[in-house]
Amino acid sequence: MKSIVGHLINGELVPDNGDRLQDVYNPATGEVAKQVALASKATVEKAIAAADAAFPAWRNTSPAKRCQVMFRLKVLLEEHSETICNMITDEHGKVHHDAMGELTRAIENVEFACGAPQLLKGEHSKNVGTAIDSWSEFQPLGVVAGITPFNFPAMVPFWMWPLAIVCGNTFVLKPSERTPSASLFMAQLALEAGLPAGVLNVVMGDKEAVDTLLNDKRVQAVSFVGSTPIAEYIYTTATANGKRVQALGGAKNHAILMPDADMDNAVSAIMGAAYGSCGERCMALPVVVAVGDEAGDAVVEKLKAELSTMKVGPGRDNNNDMGPLVNKAHFEKVKGYVDKGVEEGAILVVDGRDTVIKGYENGFFLAGCLFDHVTAEMKIYKDEIFGPVLCIVRVKSQQEAMDLINDHEYGNGTCIFTRDGESARYFTDNIKVGMVGVNIPLPVPVSYQSFGGWKRSLFGDLSMYGPDGVRFWTRRKTITQRWPSSQIREGAKFSFPSNN
Ligand code: NAD
Repeated sequence: MKSIVGHLINGELVPDNGDRLQDVYNPATGEVAKQVALASKATVEKAIAAADAAFPAWRNTSPAKRCQVMFRLKVLLEEHSETICNMITDEHGKVHHDAMGELTRAIENVEFACGAPQLLKGEHSKNVGTAIDSWSEFQPLGVVAGITPFNFPAMVPFWMWPLAIVCGNTFVLKPSERTPSASLFMAQLALEAGLPAGVLNVVMGDKEAVDTLLNDKRVQAVSFVGSTPIAEYIYTTATANGKRVQALGGAKNHAILMPDADMDNAVSAIMGAAYGSCGERCMALPVVVAVGDEAGDAVVEKLKAELSTMKVGPGRDNNNDMGPLVNKAHFEKVKGYVDKGVEEGAILVVDGRDTVIKGYENGFFLAGCLFDHVTAEMKIYKDEIFGPVLCIVRVKSQQEAMDLINDHEYGNGTCIFTRDGESARYFTDNIKVGMVGVNIPLPVPVSYQSFGGWKRSLFGDLSMYGPDGVRFWTRRKTITQRWPSSQIREGAKFSFPSNN
């Protein structure tokens, strides 16, 4: 019998609560390694009730005390980093060193959350009128929820709950059912670090669990990261139910390669960004727009050479550059896109289909694929493929390249490779994308900035974590206070209060 990844409710591990079960695969071997419980409505309601009960005491715990838990959590995460990265690799497939990069980013969000006393200080104005002072404070919302995707089981939940919790909220996390173990284990470490029972609850599950969170009146806010159709559904449903929502969706990130770019460094950067994590990153780089045929020919030749030496294999071997795709269904989908690209008339310069890794014959491995002469009408250009498939589009000018990006439905990340400051400045000023790099292929903001795309890559007004995160997880209250002198007797005033 396979072990079951269950829930964490009110400080207790709840193996399955009689819920439905789903298989969890090891993508390198193709075998079912575990099962995950899929929470019923009743199970999720228990988690919400636990969070609701924990809220009054947690809300009144000083921010400094809340942060002491985060300081201890940081140490525990570092101590258990090997275990966490192995869990990520065994369920997602990404190479161990890549998992470590993800975990480091998760920990940076804990470090930012440690600043809560400073972040929650509020704003004060003395003497806004005679003997009247006014201030704004940032109060927690109550029970809040996070719903996360498969591709960053450590980092994306940590974009959400550490900050939400230090702001005084209590939390229900619904991680991806495809990669559940690391998210659950890291929540258990928070309990070990001293988080009171019920402040952080984890429910595994699918649509039934998500819909319960979206419809329960006790849940005040929902933070979501995943694909665009689901992000839109989450946003529409939860806002209709009066909740605050941020829903981050999919992407199709383009890099512009200018003819003056440092070609060798640009190619190294493109390789890592296009094929790292098997292209299963929302900030991955699946499109390079080459300006001029000279840049186009050079980048294709150099990428072809690099791809011939890129090491594909199981993620537990740290010598590998790229692991397998997450599961069989996703493997078939990505492979289908490569077939489609050939059908559509793009030139498949490097074909990664039919890759077999010795000793891992049943793994979901697809080696790097490279298409040249891709056009804006093709499906492989329009859709988010979320695999190791890089498309080269050729254009004549920077403006033509920027028009392509600005016309695309997604606006998550983008980058320009150039040595020309004027080109770079025009690009950063005018591109309709939320996260922009100059000679930086993966411009993922650090934890003390905020992360969010434009257009159909983000539904909602506030980005994730950093300063926007503090605003998202709190509600402003403005208090105006007067202590009049008992010596002065004032009569009623019927005009609108002002400083006149
Ligand atoms: P997904 O949308 O399939 O799933 C995300 C979450 O939604 C999971 O927890 C899942 O259980 C839940 N879910 C799935 N179907 C649902 C339904 N019908 N109703 C309610 N809930 C449902 O996404 P995924 O495949 O896990 O992750 C990959 C996607 O996430 C890609 O599109 C990627 O670009 C995106 N992503 C975006 C960002 C970002 O910051 N913008 C970051 C990481 C991943």
